[in-house]
Amino acid sequence: MKTRGNKISIIGAGFVGSTTAFALMTSGLTSEIVIVDINKNKAEGEAMDLSHGAPFVRPIDITSGEYSDTKDSDIVIITAGIGPKPGDSRLTCISKNLKIFQSIVPEVVKYSPDSILIVVSNPVDILSYITYKLSGFPSNRVIGSGTVLDTSRFKYMLGQHFEVDPRNIHTYIMGEHGDSEIATWSLTSIAGMNVDEYCDTCLKKCGGEMKLNIYKDVKEAAYKVIEKKGATYYAVALAVRRIVEAILSNENSILTVSSLLNGEYGIQDVYMGVPTIIGRGGVKKLLQVNLNKEEKDQLVDSSKVLKSVIDDSNI
Ligand code: NAD
Repeated sequence: MKTRGNKISIIGAGFVGSTTAFALMTSGLTSEIVIVDINKNKAEGEAMDLSHGAPFVRPIDITSGEYSDTKDSDIVIITAGIGPKPGDSRLTCISKNLKIFQSIVPEVVKYSPDSILIVVSNPVDILSYITYKLSGFPSNRVIGSGTVLDTSRFKYMLGQHFEVDPRNIHTYIMGEHGDSEIATWSLTSIAGMNVDEYCDTCLKKCGGEMKLNIYKDVKEAAYKVIEKKGATYYAVALAVRRIVEAILSNENSILTVSSLLNGEYGIQDVYMGVPTIIGRGGVKKLLQVNLNKEEKDQLVDSSKVLKSVIDDSNI
């Protein structure tokens, strides 16, 4: 039962789940976090370790437990499952994580039928779609972390290149959170200037190379981190915290979460990262942004990659 304020449950106490709990704990957005993991000791240890820092943050209860302890959560974040091994694509995780989600989602729904579900486990777009189907929730209450992290990586790398605060760079990575994702160069702007205009003011004069290199670096970012330290978790935890903030503060912020497309961009019945207005009810509106022809074709191709995995999974 909820004790006070917002209650968030996190399923999966691994790198991503525990780092997300830490990011939320320090955010002041929630007064209660419940962590559930098939490895009960791990969940308990994480809850204990986090709780010992409680006097340094706003009042919060952090516990571990069973699904019954997640009752009446406002938001449930699912981070359970395996991630890709070094050199593997995220799509390779589907069969194992599908089974894990089949065991988790019904339990979550049973105890928090009015919650908003945020899916983080990979392949995130496919598992968001599966969660939507398994939960029976309206699609506005099932959200994938989508390309929020990839968009952040893109802004960071552009910021490094141009020596500009990444918060002043407006752009999106859209599509699959994975190898077929697209960079929306036609929408990329700095100080009201399209990126090509801004390039003219930049002394680096790198020609088109910057675009190719940065897009490649964004796509390969997770692979490189996984190769070096086995997993990625800090930046994704901040991305999830940002999504939670947009929901609980009813911000109407535009984030590239993974949402259900229903004819937008000519794409039907697929979850993927598109600019989406997020507020207290979850997804408020999917935006159809003005992509150029090449980008639109790439987005449709990305949806086909996801659709074929969904079809192969017999969901
Ligand atoms: P991890 O192995 O550290 O943690 C996974 C946890 O899930 C483990 O503690 C495990 O015990 C738990 N688990 C497994 N089966 C379970 C079940 N049936 N019920 C409850 N808990 C269960 O992995 P991680 O590094 O935390 O990554 C978790 C997922 O997040 C992976 O799929 C990874 O690819 C994904 N990820 C997504 C993004 C993104 O941007 N969406 C970024 C990074 C990682």
